[in-house]
Amino acid sequence: MIIVMNPKCSEDEVLKVKRELEGKGLGIHLSQGETFCIIGVLGETRAIDSNKLLRFQGVDKVLKVEEPYKKANRLFKPEDTVIDVKGSLIGGNNLAVMAGPCSVESEEQIIEIAKSVKESGATFLRGGAFKPRTSPYSFQGLELEGLELLKKARKATGLPIVTEIMSTDYIDVFERDVDVIQVGARNMQNFDLLKQLGKTSKPILLKRGLSATIEEWLMSAEYIMAAGNENVILCERGIRTFETYTRNTLDLSAIPVVKRKSHLPVIVDPSHASGYWYLVEPLAKAAISAGADGLMIEVHNNPQCALSDGQQSIKPESFKRVMDKVRILAEMEGKKL
Ligand code: PEP
Ligand code: MN
Repeated sequence: MIIVMNPKCSEDEVLKVKRELEGKGLGIHLSQGETFCIIGVLGETRAIDSNKLLRFQGVDKVLKVEEPYKKANRLFKPEDTVIDVKGSLIGGNNLAVMAGPCSVESEEQIIEIAKSVKESGATFLRGGAFKPRTSPYSFQGLELEGLELLKKARKATGLPIVTEIMSTDYIDVFERDVDVIQVGARNMQNFDLLKQLGKTSKPILLKRGLSATIEEWLMSAEYIMAAGNENVILCERGIRTFETYTRNTLDLSAIPVVKRKSHLPVIVDPSHASGYWYLVEPLAKAAISAGADGLMIEVHNNPQCALSDGQQSIKPESFKRVMDKVRILAEMEGKKL
């Protein structure tokens, strides 16, 4: 349920409505801007009498919210969420570009790639230290050593770092050392992990599950937000369909759908969505044109020898070309890069 207050209502009027609802054991989410004042109501609202609420001073409308996600819902918060990561902004009229290798492999590798993507205009460095691989015999990541190397690359370039967490085991280390904590597609519905991440103070990049509907994906965001962390960034990374020529199928329509339904930023990962380096540029361009708030792109200085996802990684010089085009499209969309 949401209560639309008159934008000119007084603090006291808001307080009286809040008290009435809290007295019934309901949670409150207040969202206030220059032209709106909205009280989102969390909890079991079926028994609430809308007519009674309409009699409170300052209340304009009382609306039922159909969707099961509340805090992630644009009805609860009409303005875009903008997340500030050490001055690099995600959401609103900003375009965030996260680039780097699938896996951190060595100090030389991560520092060389970090420097080159920064030079081309990336705003974040990505790199996996803990890797969710389909086969237990494949490279599993450098784990804690990989995190240390990411920190070195951050120091060398100033780029904030994004890396995937796989379980709650190292959550304290991630909260301390990582700028944006990534939840991979395979963990999108690891609800215990989501709840624990909801108690941290770091932004969470939540990838869409391999076969997750948009509503399931937004409900996973809701888990993190309900536990207290409202800094969630969604990432469309392709979904599983009957098509086998590409690794996954990029669901481009998810971008405008999510932007209509939610205030959270949504970025696109054309690398995992397609599985092939030559599809990264066209899909990146399509994503920006569809209104994405950013991109996550795998870049490797020697893709043939990459320890994971080499076939979908682009080289630093190709990344530069992609960025030159992305810059033009971003301007057309009114986004700052
Ligand atoms: C990754 O970003 O390297 C990754 C494993 O992505 P996803 O969870 O989307 O498969
Ligand atoms: Mn990868």
